[in-house]
Amino acid sequence: MKEKIKLTEEEWKKKLTPEEYHILREKGTERPFSGKYVDNKKKGKYVCAACGNELFDSDDKFDSGTGWPSFTKTSDKGSVEENEDLAYGMVRTEVLCSKCGGHLGHVFDDGPKPTGKRYCMNSASLKFEDK
Ligand code: FE
Repeated sequence: MKEKIKLTEEEWKKKLTPEEYHILREKGTERPFSGKYVDNKKKGKYVCAACGNELFDSDDKFDSGTGWPSFTKTSDKGSVEENEDLAYGMVRTEVLCSKCGGHLGHVFDDGPKPTGKRYCMNSASLKFEDK
């Protein structure tokens, strides 16, 4: 069990940029092809922009063509939590950081083999760390 981070919304506002706050805390979505990691092909890991929790590895990143950084799996089973999201008249699975509860994006079942998963993430929710 990971240690949880609990901050008030005021504290998050101070810690995050307005864009990060909107996506991570208000469940926003960045415009496709606008994020800084869409075409990032460097080797390294992606951690939560809010709390540093390790989320994804560059080895699992693939070019989904959607305009958002996409991964076939998380780097560790316990790194994210999933929630049914019924917003905007769609049934989707929201992906949240397991440590701080920040909104990261959604996961879909149309990813490449072997997992068949497509973790569709917001660049603003992630921080890349070079290997
Ligand atoms: Fe986090």
